[in-house]
Amino acid sequence: MIPFEYNTINILIIVLAAGLSTLLDIDLQWQRQGYPFHHRGRTHSILAALIAGVLFGIFMWYGFKEILYFGIGFIAGFMAVVSHMLGDLLTHMAFKPLWPFDKREVSFGICSASNRAANEGLGTVGTLAFFVYILNGQGSLSVFIDAIKSLFRILE
Ligand SMILES: [Zn+2]
Repeated sequence: MIPFEYNTINILIIVLAAGLSTLLDIDLQWQRQGYPFHHRGRTHSILAALIAGVLFGIFMWYGFKEILYFGIGFIAGFMAVVSHMLGDLLTHMAFKPLWPFDKREVSFGICSASNRAANEGLGTVGTLAFFVYILNGQGSLSVFIDAIKSLFRILE
């Protein structure tokens, strides 16, 4: 988030992408219901990211009737899938993130998907990064850091 300029559009993209990012695991539900999907199959691919971007772009354009909102929707939908895949890549279960362009299965095998410490740790880091992004964008980060420094000086 930090490389992106601080503005309302980027905050909207970040919030939408984060909110949509869990939708990929609908493949678990489809698999249980007998549909021809397997977990971390087609929903976890760069093609799914492009499709999600186009569909969410159309959805946003339909709602706001401005091409800018197609772009916001596209980036949010695309980044929702990509960010989910980046998280899943940390786990042991390999999948094909670049399918159908590259069919290699990839996994960094750092932890299991159900690792509570990893999930809560990443959730906490992500939330803190978002607050830092907001505070830095509003020019309040230095005030916040000074307040923390003052607090430590008092505690010494
Ligand atoms: Zn997943």
